[in-house]
Amino acid sequence: MVFTPLDKVRQKYDVVVIGSGLGGLTCANRLARAGHAVLLLEHHTQLGGLATWFKRGGHTFDVSLHGFPYGMVKTCKKYWSKEIRDSIVQLNNIVFDNPQFSLTTTFSKDDFTRILHEQFTLDRVTVDDFFNTVRAMNFYDDLGMTTRELFEKFFPGRSDVHRLLMEPITYANGSTLDEPAITYGIVFSNFMNRGVFTFEGGTDRLIGMMATDLQHNGVTLCTGAKVERIIVENGKTKGVVVGDREISASAVVSNSGITNTIDNLAGRDAFSDDFLSRFDKVVVNNSSSQVYFGIRKGEAFDDVGDLLFTSTAKEFSSEEMRRMDTKSRTFSVYYPKTRPDAPDYTVVASMNANYADWADLDEQAYGRAKEEMVERCFDDLERYIPGIRDKVDTIESATPQTFNRYTLHTEGTSFGTKFEGLDISRTIFKEVGGLFHVGSVGIIMSGWLGAINYGVIVANDVDAYVRS
Ligand SMILES: Cc1cc2nc3c(=O)[nH]c(=O)nc-3n(C[C@H](O)[C@H](O)[C@H](O)COP(=O)(O)OP(=O)(O)OC[C@H]3O[C@@H](n4cnc5c(N)ncnc54)[C@H](O)[C@@H]3O)c2cc1C
Repeated sequence: MVFTPLDKVRQKYDVVVIGSGLGGLTCANRLARAGHAVLLLEHHTQLGGLATWFKRGGHTFDVSLHGFPYGMVKTCKKYWSKEIRDSIVQLNNIVFDNPQFSLTTTFSKDDFTRILHEQFTLDRVTVDDFFNTVRAMNFYDDLGMTTRELFEKFFPGRSDVHRLLMEPITYANGSTLDEPAITYGIVFSNFMNRGVFTFEGGTDRLIGMMATDLQHNGVTLCTGAKVERIIVENGKTKGVVVGDREISASAVVSNSGITNTIDNLAGRDAFSDDFLSRFDKVVVNNSSSQVYFGIRKGEAFDDVGDLLFTSTAKEFSSEEMRRMDTKSRTFSVYYPKTRPDAPDYTVVASMNANYADWADLDEQAYGRAKEEMVERCFDDLERYIPGIRDKVDTIESATPQTFNRYTLHTEGTSFGTKFEGLDISRTIFKEVGGLFHVGSVGIIMSGWLGAINYGVIVANDVDAYVRS
């Protein structure tokens, strides 16, 4: 796909969108469909942000296509296209394997209810009550209760149940037991609908389809274009500085992280002390590490499940899950059905990670830490796919430094910010007229579904502002 080189973009647009994550892409598309002239500037050479992929040794590896909730079906149909919606398919075999329990589930509410009742011997009424409570939670609820308190209320002392309910969510958005139960309730309920879904054809196909739609709707797409500054004059944004060019716009939407947007792009001088004192309480979420395995052509293995939540740690601990030598990881197994046009077997091991653990290593120590991480993943994977070492012809790995380099996100955050970030993101335009933020914040607005839905919400705000 050919994008517009920076020296060919116009001097003035209605809206400039900084960043091509799913939030930025969706927002740009909605605004273009509403008739606005939109320029999208992305610092990386490909679109998608964290919704990304790369090619190595003849394989295509997906970075963040591990699973999303059923809500994506409606969202993609309504805000993108029927073609995109039609490629969403279910992952049927979600495996949990740890010292407390081993099971396979469709990750639907019905199946979870059955498992909690039959395998974990909980009474039906309590389980139903729990599901009804989390489903009824909404944004305006009391934020006082933590997820730990919620679990203790319904399943006191049952660390096995807490693990089943929490581990997938900690992988999905980095949250811990000590965060507002409301964030857990919203994300868990999204998944606890009909199960976990994926995109047939892979991330490259999805982003390609989105890029085609964006260009069809008139969005100017420009990659390799890092925005250095958002221009703010007299409390309003006037555009952006990118390379040696200034581009004017009535509104700027930043899909860069909220911390980057305020600290580096607009600059703290643009904001009031009161706003900054709230902003300074925002905590960024953890980052990730991954190991990617490509299976030699001609080799195969049996179906071991689509998404495996594995751990040899005695109990669930979000701190343990972020350690460099964590015993907990997910394996996403991609079979030939993932890309019917280019059938292949790949496996991606994902771990949560702390940026600080990786950031200060010298080159040698960094290389060694990566090798040790690969070895740990191999050892674990061997338990599910015996003989895997002999089948693999390509290995690659990523650390928090990798995520930081490709997305510029503060501390390589994979899931934006904790809850406080949402209010900052939602009110930034009240501080600087015409400046909006879209992208992972507040736990709720993250993940593929959260980012796309947030893109729609922010596009509505921007549309109203530009028209006014
Ligand atoms: C390892 C991993 C696994 C994940 N797995 C899943 C999963 O299975 N399911 C799921 O639903 N979610 C998953 N996620 C989360 C999901 O990928 C993200 O929440 C979502 O893609 C984020 O979208 P976003 O709109 O916030 O933007 P991002 O994807 O964060 O993109 C922001 C974009 O802005 C660009 N940018 C930043 N600064 C500038 C600048 N100054 N100039 C120009 N461009 C700039 C960046 O280069 C980037 O392209 C995963 C994330 C990670 C890291």
